[in-house]
Amino acid sequence: MAKGFAAVPDERRYVLANATLPAVLVDNFPGEPDGDGLVAADIVVNDGTVERIAPPGDTSGLPALDLDRGMVWPCFVDMHTHLDKGHIWPRRPNPDGTFDGALAAAWADRRASWNATDVATRMDFSLRMAYAHGTSLVRTHVDSDPPQHKISWPVFAEMRERWKGRIDLQGVSIFTIDQFLNADYADEIVETVATHGGILGAVTFMIPELDRAIETIMHRAANRDLDLDFHVDETDDPAARSLLAIADAALRTDFPGEIVAGHCCSLATQPEAEAEATMDRVAEAEIAVVSLPMCNMYLQDRQPRGEAPWTPRWRGVTLVHELAARGVPVAVASDNTRDPFYAYGDLDMLEVFREAVRILHLDHPIAPWPAAVARTPADIVDRPDRGVIAAGLPADLVLFRGRNFTELLARAQSDRTVLRAGKAIDTELPDYRELDELMEWRA
Ligand SMILES: [Zn+2]
Repeated sequence: MAKGFAAVPDERRYVLANATLPAVLVDNFPGEPDGDGLVAADIVVNDGTVERIAPPGDTSGLPALDLDRGMVWPCFVDMHTHLDKGHIWPRRPNPDGTFDGALAAAWADRRASWNATDVATRMDFSLRMAYAHGTSLVRTHVDSDPPQHKISWPVFAEMRERWKGRIDLQGVSIFTIDQFLNADYADEIVETVATHGGILGAVTFMIPELDRAIETIMHRAANRDLDLDFHVDETDDPAARSLLAIADAALRTDFPGEIVAGHCCSLATQPEAEAEATMDRVAEAEIAVVSLPMCNMYLQDRQPRGEAPWTPRWRGVTLVHELAARGVPVAVASDNTRDPFYAYGDLDMLEVFREAVRILHLDHPIAPWPAAVARTPADIVDRPDRGVIAAGLPADLVLFRGRNFTELLARAQSDRTVLRAGKAIDTELPDYRELDELMEWRA
């Protein structure tokens, strides 16, 4: 059993001494943060709960683990994943790495192989990865094209139950917004999502009846007390303006729930004045935005093989700094994992943060941005008890050897120690060989 670098005292009450904490992830931190937003502290753990966050050296006499300035983070919150698609790459790779290639390959794989056992086995595998890396809450989209919704939603509910206490699992429907114009389908999917305690979500893109479709989904969600989580404008086409349509509809209908907009790639390819006007509306409508930098950089600005040689010119990501400056809550998340939309990924939110820092320039200063993988997504998904270190909350913590951001982000921190309720968990990752049998189902 792998428990990482740290030998945590086997005591009911102990201290994580000489820790370095991102202040933005701590309630009532002691002292003044440095220029990178880091503070030094001792964390007293009692009976699995954070009892106190004290100035370093203030807790002598208790059994202690001296972290020698190693960082401590709260467990991560991964608010945008696709667990039902995960790990199908070996049997259904993306032939050319394009978005169209991904759509076609994922569709074919779903049709051929997504029975309940297949979906459940891959979802469970992914959750084991996320847990071992130190994530405590995962929101997943669930492919809900008929008849898949009847297979996958019960599997999702079973996984949520199986993982209770280790990972809080949230589910969001995903289907193309045009399908919601079909009243029978709309009835059925709203019922399915509501019955399973899910969130209503769809892929929005430019269709002639976009405004009507979005207004309808907002009315239906409001009637059933459902939140909304959309895949928005995942393209470099500046004419993709469904983000503005969502913001306008939210204001027009006075939508009472939470709205999340994922991707929003085309915002970055639109003329400045237009993008600014849209972002003002997004802020006014209190929409939260989640960026998926690894997947966006993989899919966006890629040309099919066989055409002229092509090197990508842009990074594929939305305008996170400009959105954050307007007060829009901005998170980053994993998105796809080893499927036709992204050939890689390990549901490791430290990797997501590391890549996001590089792709999105979330550094110099980095200070507010650790929140984007912890506290901000926790607040967005209405779990303010997650993604934060605070007295009275469970000691669900990730301990790193890295003492500052250059040390933390230069290496993968594969030897991290993950505490759940104050105890070190097994951080051994599941072996891909476990999935080999499923991959032989290749049609
Ligand atoms: Zn997605």
